[in-house]
Amino acid sequence: MFDIHKIRKDFPILNRIVNGKPLVYFDNGATAQKPQTVIDAITNYYTNQNANIHRGVHTLSREITIVYEEARKTIQAHINAAHANEIIFTRGTTESINLVAYCFGKINVFEGDEILITQMEHHSNIVAWQQLCEEKKAILKYIPINEAGELILEDLPKLITSKTKLVAFTHISNTLGTINPVKEMIKQIRALSCPLSGDGRGAVVLIDGAQAVSHLKPNVQDLDCDFYAFSGHKLFGPTGVGVLYAKEEWLTKFGPYQTGGGTIKTVTMQKTEFADAPLKFEAGTPHIEGGIGLAAAIDYVNSIGFEAIQKHEDTLMNYATQKLSEIEGVRIYGSSKHRTSVLSFNVGSIHPFDIGTLLDKYGIAIRSGHHCTQPICQFYNIPGTIRASFTFYNTVEEIDLFIEALKKSIRLLS
Ligand code: PLP
Repeated sequence: MFDIHKIRKDFPILNRIVNGKPLVYFDNGATAQKPQTVIDAITNYYTNQNANIHRGVHTLSREITIVYEEARKTIQAHINAAHANEIIFTRGTTESINLVAYCFGKINVFEGDEILITQMEHHSNIVAWQQLCEEKKAILKYIPINEAGELILEDLPKLITSKTKLVAFTHISNTLGTINPVKEMIKQIRALSCPLSGDGRGAVVLIDGAQAVSHLKPNVQDLDCDFYAFSGHKLFGPTGVGVLYAKEEWLTKFGPYQTGGGTIKTVTMQKTEFADAPLKFEAGTPHIEGGIGLAAAIDYVNSIGFEAIQKHEDTLMNYATQKLSEIEGVRIYGSSKHRTSVLSFNVGSIHPFDIGTLLDKYGIAIRSGHHCTQPICQFYNIPGTIRASFTFYNTVEEIDLFIEALKKSIRLLS
């Protein structure tokens, strides 16, 4: 049973008063709030369990190593990875993408090769590939979007060539809310591209799951992606921790991303023999409480269930879209049939920052700006948007408060 009142009690921050008003938190696309179970898991780590992992023979170290490795298994099960060693802890989506760009680029991308991304990517999934292409004299191409904020997939056959080495795209757009048909895209990409290094599977695919993981449960084996990147903090877990799922075959082929303690088997003064994955990719003392907190967050969302979460989010999205469309001068960006929980809009020629600043006075937290997707803003020829992003602890009543405050803000600014 989806009990919104009970769920809201699990998130202490939702009781906050901001500028004299109850907080309405509609900036979940930027970062999600944390349930008490996550906060407790982190507190418990520092109160009762703190020690370094993988190194000590003493009880605390052995105990916390087991807890940390169990967290890895929780993530593995959640995204249906075949092996726990395919789960690499990183600092977040951005670092996961950089890791692939560095390690994959080093051994597989050469002059004249092509990398394909899309026009709706977050800067994290653009800049790393631009840098790689610049360094390797490779070519960066992109799948364009249409007015509805959908990828123009009819262009895929002409964009993919015998030189395409890797295709990287977002599962859900953080600015438009579009849910891309990831599984179909991967099938098409594999069919159109040439087998890489003779493995017969076509170009390599990386999915940016930063926005997707709070709305759905990715099944990486079913998707058949090579890489899936996401951040803990958008999945109701801690900041500073994230995940790179990578097919085992890549982790065996890749050299280390960073080096140092934890990544090695043996070191002599002349030479280092590296450990196997995942340790090869986790240099230095990791974000131990981050991994533990992320596993607690995954347990929490699964206790609610993604079917119930999606049903509630659809109700919020439909209601908010309807209410927003009734306001004169509002233009919503992104109208794909398949989209979720993100409403990006502008009102006439009012600057998004002005609306954002006034809404804050009513205790309403939304995001205004380019949302790290400047190419989307360039496509629509706008400086940015106002973005309200919802999640399962938000309510229809909060949308009413938001709409009322928005109307007042527009009156003040007109
Ligand atoms: N990709 C997408 C689609 C995002 O929305 C974000 C963050 O907003 C990122 C990547 C970067 O995530 P992080 O800053 O947690 O690394």
